[in-house]
Amino acid sequence: MKNFHVAIIGGGVIGSSIAWELSKYKLDVVVFEKGSDVASETSKANSGVIHSGINSPPSSLKARYCVEGNKILQSLANELGFPLQWVGKYVIAKNEEETKELERLKKVGIDNGVPGLEIKNGTEVTEPNVSCFAALWVPTAGIVSPYKFTMALAENAAENNVKFLLEAKVTNLKKQKDGFIIKTSKGDFQSPLIVNAAGLNCREIVSMVEEPDFQVYPCRGEYLVLDKKHSSLLNSMIYPVPPKELGVLGIHITPTIEGNILLGPSAEFIDNAENKKTTREMMKNLLNEAKEIIPAIPDKAVINAYSGIRCKLASPEDGGWADYRIEESKQTSGLISLLGIESPGLTGAPAIAKEVARMISQSIELKSKDNFKFARTKRKRFSEMSAKEQSDLIKKDERWGRIVCRCEQITEREVIDALSNPLGAKTLSSVKYRCRAGMGRCQGGFCTQHIVRIMEEQFNMDVKNIKLRSPDSNLFYGRTREVRDD
Ligand SMILES: Cc1cc2nc3c(=O)[nH]c(=O)nc-3n(C[C@H](O)[C@H](O)[C@H](O)COP(=O)(O)OP(=O)(O)OC[C@H]3O[C@@H](n4cnc5c(N)ncnc54)[C@H](O)[C@@H]3O)c2cc1C
Repeated sequence: MKNFHVAIIGGGVIGSSIAWELSKYKLDVVVFEKGSDVASETSKANSGVIHSGINSPPSSLKARYCVEGNKILQSLANELGFPLQWVGKYVIAKNEEETKELERLKKVGIDNGVPGLEIKNGTEVTEPNVSCFAALWVPTAGIVSPYKFTMALAENAAENNVKFLLEAKVTNLKKQKDGFIIKTSKGDFQSPLIVNAAGLNCREIVSMVEEPDFQVYPCRGEYLVLDKKHSSLLNSMIYPVPPKELGVLGIHITPTIEGNILLGPSAEFIDNAENKKTTREMMKNLLNEAKEIIPAIPDKAVINAYSGIRCKLASPEDGGWADYRIEESKQTSGLISLLGIESPGLTGAPAIAKEVARMISQSIELKSKDNFKFARTKRKRFSEMSAKEQSDLIKKDERWGRIVCRCEQITEREVIDALSNPLGAKTLSSVKYRCRAGMGRCQGGFCTQHIVRIMEEQFNMDVKNIKLRSPDSNLFYGRTREVRDD
């Protein structure tokens, strides 16, 4: 049975950040991820906002990791080559009453050490499509592609010898004298240290070894995605004054790093954390609420909808707000759990990972690797290159010259690079989230067949094993006609 120094359960942004942090040391680390890729759950379905730290109470863990993570993220983006933009955000007040809330948020931000906060009157707001009474300007808020961020961490960790086992669901843990036996859908493993970064399933993991002293209250947030051609509607993020209940930030309008605009998220407590559906009613609400902020949003601008589920440790009756719990179990030594890592978990992830490494260093000596490979190669998208750069590449490899995704102008070579990722992830979603093939206006209507052919012909994949996004999302059950060579 293979033995690892540290076993991480979950390849979301939290598990991947911890894996990356630990990959700097001489340790055998494994990540078990039940999905077919990293960022297959909440870490891909959020607003992608790098928060500044104005929303969480001073001295909370949420505030601490948010502010620390915010400071680390630019250098991390440079080192790992994922895109990040400091677009800033306005929290807008519709009337004088709401302006008092801006003052409160500003004070919280100052207490948390957030720089540059400024309250502006409505006429000073530099967004031409937004009208408001007053606004709090937050210059240190930014945007990132949440899945590219997670994939960059995981891929660089894998390049530094962390083992990622995809489609490997942890089904049981057995505590023994000198560690754990970890039962997974890919066999049994051993480790003295478990890091429970299973997001919404964090309680299920704890209950494998002890009675959990907490509940998880899943809270669904639905979004609408607007076509890129409406990207000029706004430059920075627009947030309302946060609603008093549910511990959420309210429906905001956010540019994405790829040039779309997001409307959302809603906030709805649900019984089943797997229920990621989007609903017609909520889609209507989101559009109406967003139009109250930017009336110029056209109804037909919406090209997609998705939802993400918040991992809340407080019920709606208790107000929906609880701080993170990042702790080693008192009953089960060696089990470190990250509980209730809801927003701003994406922002806080790199700082949380440092804290977990510090906790691990209490039981294992962390010795730095001499051969740590820091940077991932950063490459421009083909469509963003100059004509000279493009023709030089096509001369070297003609696959650069074949457009596979017309909406996003993605080439065959970019699809191949996405499929050659160091994690070995090979679903249509793995391609989509790495190079954007299938993310445009037609949402894969044109390129899917071409990507499938590349998977078959250049990666020898059996068409029956090609999946959309998860272990059980097969696309094909066989051929209606065999292809003949003659
Ligand atoms: C609607 C919404 C908006 C948000 N917006 C923002 C934002 O703008 N900025 C921000 O900073 N934060 C935001 N967040 C919070 C952020 O998305 C989360 O804090 C973060 O993604 C949590 O990451 P995670 O790794 O803990 O969870 P996940 O991404 O869910 O990862 C957990 C992983 O564990 C795997 N897993 C579970 N059980 C098992 C098992 N038994 N075996 C193997 N693998 C398992 C899952 O498949 C999953 O991939 C938002 C969250 C939501 C829901």
